[in-house]
Amino acid sequence: MNDTFLENRASKPTKDELRNVFAEAYRLGLEAAPEGRVADYIPELAKADPGAFGIYMLDGNGESISFGDVSTRFSIQSVAKVIILAVALKYRGFDETFSHVMMEPSGDSFNSILKLDLRSNLPFNPMINAGAIQTVSLLADEFGFDDLMGFARELCMDPNIVLDEAVYNSEHDTGDRNRAIVYLLKSKGVLMADPEKTVDLYFKLCSLSVNARSLAALGLVISNGGVNPFTGRNWIEPDHVRTIKSLMFTCGMYDFSGQFGVKVGVPGKSGVGGGMVCAARGPMGIGLYGPSLDPYGNSIAAVKAMEHLSEKLNLHVFDYL
Ligand code: GLU
Repeated sequence: MNDTFLENRASKPTKDELRNVFAEAYRLGLEAAPEGRVADYIPELAKADPGAFGIYMLDGNGESISFGDVSTRFSIQSVAKVIILAVALKYRGFDETFSHVMMEPSGDSFNSILKLDLRSNLPFNPMINAGAIQTVSLLADEFGFDDLMGFARELCMDPNIVLDEAVYNSEHDTGDRNRAIVYLLKSKGVLMADPEKTVDLYFKLCSLSVNARSLAALGLVISNGGVNPFTGRNWIEPDHVRTIKSLMFTCGMYDFSGQFGVKVGVPGKSGVGGGMVCAARGPMGIGLYGPSLDPYGNSIAAVKAMEHLSEKLNLHVFDYL
């Protein structure tokens, strides 16, 4: 096997070669897991196994490769922000959505309130808490939780997604910073729905239970131009996919997004439950689960594994311009 597949871009790796690359990525991720810490600011998340790690790849032909902990369900957390944005673009359109939230990386942590208060009336982007909460407020008067869970089930090709009640209760009991954000948005006159209804819907969407396969399927739909390759259903318009991928690329990994962009170069989104979705070329969706987090809030094992995959499979978007 070549050291990378860069030498001959026309050649696709064989299934065995691909499997070997994923096996090594899994090994590297597993090795890195003890260096991170499980999130505990939402008490229920602290119960996750810090050593767990799983990786699931799904391509447009339905071929899959998986290693490790791919059946454990965990809460989707911030990966829901991708779904929230997809729904807003579909039902509110680009212009309306982005008249309520900006599209700039914030460089701050996911739950920061500082720039929102000091520098702007609108949240910086839909991938941070303030932006996602604001985007939820665009939808909250038309869609209930069951509607939005239905969209998540479709996009993740996973009818078994349900509300993780324990995580939801834990977030509900401890989510004061998110309440502060929603009321700050209200005080600025930009929130589009009732603050309690909005933040409750946001907590519930963060508490959807998924597994690595669900996230791989979500990544595949995004990577495949918004079309579910198995049903042919075009869920997300192509220009909306471009917007979603751009925001995942620039803002999807918290204040590590720049480093992830340089080192991995694949549109992705992580959540503090340990999940990560990546939409790689191919089309290829990669879903990862590793609840030990780096200091930014990204799964430390998932980042490590994606670095390896990107290098060996030439996944960096600027490698194939
Ligand atoms: N529900 C979490 C929060 O709002 C999501 C954070 C995340 O995954 O980044 O704090």
